[in-house]
Amino acid sequence: MTVEIKTELFCLHCGEERVHTLTYLGKYLHQIKCEECGIQLQIDRLKIMESYAEDLLEEILAKPHQLLEEKKRLGLIRFLKSLPVRVVTKPYRVAREAIEIVKKKQQRPGK
Ligand SMILES: [Zn+2]
Repeated sequence: MTVEIKTELFCLHCGEERVHTLTYLGKYLHQIKCEECGIQLQIDRLKIMESYAEDLLEEILAKPHQLLEEKKRLGLIRFLKSLPVRVVTKPYRVAREAIEIVKKKQQRPGK
């Protein structure tokens, strides 16, 4: 279902407030269009999800380096004691979240 809403927004192209048409596909914002200059902004949910997943993966990949730095600072025993909670819970949760996003993406090709 497509819904169009007109509202005043600041247009970067016009440099002032203009009437914009917001187009919603279902409950998601799909497009913003300036009625004055016609400039359009497409909201690509898949792109957003992809970059979100990339951020999560980077966070996971960055961890080993951060952990090594911390090992130097804390000393080995304290480091090992601090390890289980963070290594097991956080990256696991983050990885699972990233996998869910990639799975959802694969289930809907071409969208
Ligand atoms: Zn404009």
